[in-house]
Amino acid sequence: MGRHVEPVCKLCRREGGKLFLKGEKCYSEKCPVARRSYAPGQHGKLPIRASEYQIRLREKQKARRIYGLGERQFAKYFDQAARRKGDTGEKLMQSLERRLDNVVYRLGFATSRQAARQMVRNGGIAVNARKVNIPAFEVKADDAVKVAPRMAALAKASLEKFPDRVLPAWVSLTGEAEGKVLSLPKREDIDVSLEVNLIVEYYSR
Ligand code: SF4
Repeated sequence: MGRHVEPVCKLCRREGGKLFLKGEKCYSEKCPVARRSYAPGQHGKLPIRASEYQIRLREKQKARRIYGLGERQFAKYFDQAARRKGDTGEKLMQSLERRLDNVVYRLGFATSRQAARQMVRNGGIAVNARKVNIPAFEVKADDAVKVAPRMAALAKASLEKFPDRVLPAWVSLTGEAEGKVLSLPKREDIDVSLEVNLIVEYYSR
């Protein structure tokens, strides 16, 4: 995927809400979305009269940015979800959540999905006692996810930053730097502010 050269906070302001891309800063008063709710740029304060198409496009872009995926990669997730039996929106969200980098983030071992991705890429994560350095690796129910000893301090520091954090119902911590996937996530378990039906409509146009 193409790398973002603009500050990631601008992406949140463009989408008009928090995408939680910067870890600790996102939960602090330093978050620019909390201070400025309009989009970046010289026309950022103008009211936006968005067409149906633009509304759906923005929701798709928002989802893509939250999970840090490129256009083609995101479209591939949608294609796979559409081919599966059941609700396409739910299948899409489930696939995105099952990514290993997301699971590391959900367990609290990293403060952002981006940091979690780095941990995975750097060989700091094992699934069922085997090192996995592919951020897109899809976890399944009963998988054990463990942080390598050399990165355990990093995971611990991340966990300590958010002591009151409530874990999603489908994962659980089993040790200081260990967790487990209890089940596959259902839509109601996924705490992401997205209108997935708009994304389905975007690709169904
Ligand atoms: Fe920046 Fe995080 Fe706030 Fe988004 S949510 S604007 S990434 S600090």
